[in-house]
Order: sequence, then C-alpha cells, then structure tokens
Amino acid sequence: MSPPRVIQVAVPRPLHTVYDYGVPAELSMPAIGTRLRVPFGRSNTIGICTAIEVETPHKRLKNIQQILDSQPAIPAELMQLAHWMTQYYHHPLGEVLATMLPSAARKGAPFDIDAVDHWCVASTPFAGKRAPAQLACYEYLQANGPSSGSSLVEGGFSRQTLRNLHNKGAIERCEVLTSKQFETPPKANNEQVLAIETINKHHGKYACLLLEGVTGSGKTEVYLRSMAIPLAAQQQVLILVPEIALTPQTLRRFQCRFANVGMLHSNLSDHDRLQTWLKCKSGKISVLIGTRSAIFTPFKSLGLIIVDEEHDSSYKQQDGLRYSARDLSVIRARAHNVPVVLGSATPSLESLYNVQRKRYQRLHLHKRAGGAQMPTYNIIDMRGQTHTDGISLPLERVIKRHLEARGQVLLFLNRRGFAPTLLCAACGWQAHCTACDARLTLHRTPPQLSCHHCGLRLQVPKKCAHCDQTSLLPVGMGTQRTESVAQQLFNDVPIYRIDRDTTRSTKKLAEQFDKINQGKPCIMVGTQMLAKGHHFPDVTLVAILNADAGFLSPDFRAPERTAQLIVQVAGRSGRAVRPGEVWIQSFQPDNPALVSLIQTGYPGFAVAELEQRIKMGMPPAKPMALIRAESVNPQEAISLLNHAKQQFHSIEALGPVPAPLARMSNRSRFQLMLIAETRPQLHKALQQLQIPKIPNKLRWSIDVDPYDSM
Ligand code: ADP
Ligand code: ZN
Ligand code: ZN
Repeated sequence: MSPPRVIQVAVPRPLHTVYDYGVPAELSMPAIGTRLRVPFGRSNTIGICTAIEVETPHKRLKNIQQILDSQPAIPAELMQLAHWMTQYYHHPLGEVLATMLPSAARKGAPFDIDAVDHWCVASTPFAGKRAPAQLACYEYLQANGPSSGSSLVEGGFSRQTLRNLHNKGAIERCEVLTSKQFETPPKANNEQVLAIETINKHHGKYACLLLEGVTGSGKTEVYLRSMAIPLAAQQQVLILVPEIALTPQTLRRFQCRFANVGMLHSNLSDHDRLQTWLKCKSGKISVLIGTRSAIFTPFKSLGLIIVDEEHDSSYKQQDGLRYSARDLSVIRARAHNVPVVLGSATPSLESLYNVQRKRYQRLHLHKRAGGAQMPTYNIIDMRGQTHTDGISLPLERVIKRHLEARGQVLLFLNRRGFAPTLLCAACGWQAHCTACDARLTLHRTPPQLSCHHCGLRLQVPKKCAHCDQTSLLPVGMGTQRTESVAQQLFNDVPIYRIDRDTTRSTKKLAEQFDKINQGKPCIMVGTQMLAKGHHFPDVTLVAILNADAGFLSPDFRAPERTAQLIVQVAGRSGRAVRPGEVWIQSFQPDNPALVSLIQTGYPGFAVAELEQRIKMGMPPAKPMALIRAESVNPQEAISLLNHAKQQFHSIEALGPVPAPLARMSNRSRFQLMLIAETRPQLHKALQQLQIPKIPNKLRWSIDVDPYDSM
C-alpha cells in the first residue's frame, strides 16, 4: 500500500489553523491555491489548498471530496500575500483567502468566461426607419460605442431587438469593451511631463511614487499617460479609486483612451464581478478600475498600480479583515516588481512620513492644469453673528454676489437629515436611540427620527416623552434644513441636495450632475459625497457651514481628516475659467489647526501635524493596533480586554476604555489601544496573545493600523 497522500486546507472559518485531509486515489493531487470541497463538521465547505505532500500526526484523516479548479484560483503571488496578511493583520488564513475571492468563486461557481456578449455597430449601415426600437438601439451603440448585452437590456432594449439588428447585419459581437472613440489628450504641462517621465523611468521595477498635486492639477492626466508604456508592453494596469468616486464619468474617461477597460465596484452582480475577475486573471482586461477589494484581483501580467485619492478612508476595511487596500497595493507592487503611484491633493500623514524616511518618492503638481487659479480662503467668525438657520448674514451676501455673477454655489455640511437633535425646550429632554449611545437625527423628507448608527427609525413625536409638553425643537443643522433655508433665501435658483438620502441610485446622481454641469446658477447642498473627485467647472463659491465639529473630535486623526475634507471640498471651487472663493464659518476661528491650514495650505498643515504625531508618539511614527470587544454585558467585554492587557509587557497597552460610540445596537463597546516602538514588537506581542474560550455573545477583534477609533 502506498503512503496516504496528505494535503493542508484552509477553510473559511475564524480559526487560526489549517486542516489535514487525504486525497483519495481517484483524484489527482491538487495544486496549492485551488478550491476544494471538503467535509467539515457535519456538512462540507469550500476551502483552499495551502500545502501538499505534508506529513501528518493524525492517524485517521477525512478525504477531500472534489477539486474545483484545474488552475489555482489563488495564484502563488496572492497566496503569498494571504500569508503576509495573516501575519500582519492577525486574521485567520481561511478567512483571508475567502475575502480575496469574489463571492461567486467562494460559493464554488465554475471559472468559465461567458461567451462574448458585447455589441457594436457593423460596417453595414442600418436603414430601418420603421423599426423605432431597433433604430434607437442602433443609434445608442453608434453614440456610445461597444456595450454589453446586459447593460443594453438594463437600458431598456430587448434581447429580441438585439437579435433583429444582428440578423440584419447592422450590429456585431465584439470582444469586451474595446473603445473606438479615442479622444485627443491635452498637451501635458512641465510638471506633468516630469511626473510622467519619473513614473515611466521605473517601468519594470518596484518604486512607490507619491503624486501630490493640488485639486484640479491634472493628476488623472498623469495616470492616463503613464499607463501607455505598460499597456504597450502588453501589461495590465490596476487603478484603485475611492468608493464614491467610481462614477460613469470616471469610467468613461478611461474608456475614451484605452481598450478593454473593466470595472469592479459594489453594485455589480456576483456573476459580473466574477466575470471581470476572470478576465483580469486571463489577461482579457487590460485596465481594471475598482474600489477597495479590487486589490485582490489576480492579473496575468501586472505592469502598474495607481491609487487615486490615497488618503481616502474607504481604502480601509472597517470590519472583518481590517485591511488597507492602499498599503496592500505597495506590497503587491513590490511582489510584481512594478511601480505604484499614490495620488492625492491631501496625502495621508502615513505616506508623507514614508517620503520623509525616503521610502516613497514625492512628485509635485503645484499648479492647476489649464491655467485655473487656486481658490482664496476666508473665515467668518460665527460668534455673535446673526444667522438664518446656520447661514450667517455675511455668507448670505457672498452667496448672493456669486449667484448674481452667474456662478454656482456649493454649501458643504457633513451631516444629513434635517437636524441632529430633537430637544424639548421646556425640560431639556433629547430624543435618544434606545439601542445606541447616540441622539436620533430628525428627518423631514420623509418625516422620521432616525439613528445613523443602527438604522432605527421612529415616528416624530408630537410631545416630549418626559414632560408631555408640545415644545419640541429641532436643534443644529443637517442638509435637509440647509436645503430648505436656501430655498427660502434664494428662491429664484434651483437647489440640489446631494447626500446619501437623495442619491441612492447612481443613475439619479448622474442626472443631477448633468443638470448642474449645464452651468446655470444654482446651489448645491451636500455632504462629503460632493467632496470627492467631481469636476464642477462653474462652481465659484464653496462655503463650509460648520468647520468646527471635525476639529473637536477626540480621535487623534480628526485634524488630519478634517483638513483633508476642507481642502477637497474647497477644491471644487474655481476649477475652470472663473476664480473661486472658499468661505468657512467657524465658532473657533482661532483654532490652531484651522489657522495653520488657511495660512500654510495643506502641505504646511501636514508638516506641523506630522511633527505633533511624532512628538506624541502616535502613528505614523509608532505602530498602533486596537483590540475591540463588544457585548450586551459590558463586564464581559472589559474582562476580556483586561485579560489581554496583562499579556502585554514590552508594548504600551492603554485602556480598556469605552469606545467613542460606547453602545451600539444594545452592545457595549470597549477598546484597548496598543502602541509599540517598532512593528516587529507589535506583531510579536499580538502573535503571543492568548484569548481563552469566550462567551458566545462576546465579540472581539484586532485592528492593525486603525483608521478611526469609533
Ligand atoms: P485632478 O485629478 O488632479 O483633480 P484632473 O486630471 O481631473 O485633475 O484635471 C482637471 C482638469 O484639467 C480636467 O478637466 C483635465 O482635462 C484638465 N487638464 C489636465 N491636464 C491638462 C493640461 N496639461 N492642459 C490642459 N488641461 C488639462
Ligand atoms: Zn420636555
Ligand atoms: Zn441606534
């Protein structure tokens, strides 16, 4: 009898262990990285083969049931990344591997690429005036270039219409999204040329380049041009963008330049997501634009990685496997020996620190492309100021002046709803969420009280729950309230509110943007959704209605985040011919962070802030991790963290303290903050951490390099 053939399998369970399985005689030996169906517990699961031909101490082994792939689902490079992540994020290998796979692949879907389902107009002209549906579809394809069958059906054309057009020879199938409408790019300016040449110089070797360019400086143009060399060498390019920035406009910009552009974002169906993933793996897609999880896409031959708005919070996954796609992009670039470009107008302090330590190379775009000027900043001291529901008299005058000069106005407020608090004027009672340690936000359209943390929704009470008086007052500002004030004060221009409540569909958002970009005077009221990457050429005034809230937060990253947000919002102003102004309302006009930002701009602010962090021994100068615990019973969470704390001797462990949001969905939340001198110290301490078996309802997690401590 030949010795048993034994392999190791990682299963998608929160267990820090891999399992030994036998390979039955009728199956061939699987390769590392292939998906396998294995018996697990009382049923079976899909795991990933992590080692073959291992020696096992176990006498009686279960056999694997099925090998799902002929080629590894997770190629060697990503397998290595997975192992790296288990060490760095202290997360079980099985779950890391599951996170890397698209969900259809996780569930065992076969790796078959769909038959070609993209259509474009053929050389035979179409003369079907009597068939309006066919004509409309034909004209659509003529105007928009190749489109997938599914997107055409989504757009209202039927499969029958496509078949009829195809039978008449008017349209034909074509490979993926090859684009035919190549646009002529603008001539790159000197700073852009220097940036592009530096990126090109690193073709074929690892380098991390921080492209720091003011808003509207033409960073995207630099990305587009630096992609030409890897693409000409038959290599692929990965572009990561923040969640909100992935709009049809972004995609179109890339599609107009390059063929075979694919996109990965959270609105895709599982099937389409897997298809795109497979096409990247096989090399059919040349350019992939995607949000955070696109960092796990396998490539046949990767040539360049670009991370746009690298400071953006959406690159950090905030639950489960808490990875940073930005940081992983650097790891992958090194593994592939290719350059990675991190672009931002407001680089993270992490990246600036890496520049300081000569790990990253910095590239600058100081000026706006096409000659537009940077906006000027002004502060309105709100103390003792008359105001109509949050819009001060001076600001009202400024808005009027801009509208009269036929400019567009953007009012920024980082809070949706009507008012963040409903207060009883008679007794001081406030409407609180029953499940969270938070106030309920009053909404007017539709009227309700809503908890922005757990999603609880209640009818708006008529009377105070405490003293029964009808003296309930909305206190504070939300976007709905600003919208209605703007309607009162400026009733002759359209007002567009843009926040998560008004723009649940990307289609509606695109419609609103189209109207705005017609260029007529209007007022936009919005949250940070408006801050990111959008190009509004006719905005001449940006007003930040309440700059204080962000600077006052206890989180150590709050000043950095607030400064980034202000600069990004301000960057929507004066992007084209007409110069822009930025007005900031503040009750604390002397706040040092705000003053430094206005006087020295983001670069000066960042230098001062980084110095502070280094002095305080906080990230990025020292590595940090949070251990979080939450439970219905607060004592359980506290004792788990205390148990953990006793095990840390060589590193600093602060806490346990209640999380800034101390109770959410009826669970009390606590955290222990770990700060080490060096990364190896931090990782060693976390590796040695032993947590005993814990009560069922107690949850805990490790967050390495936490983005926020909420
Ligand atoms: P960023 O990504 O830095 O915000 P964009 O790449 O979106 O900037 O460029 C802002 C605007 O300037 C766009 O309309 C773009 O087409 C234009 N632009 C970029 N580079 C140039 C250039 N060299 N000459 C003229 N216009 C340019
Ligand atoms: Zn009351
Ligand atoms: Zn709640």
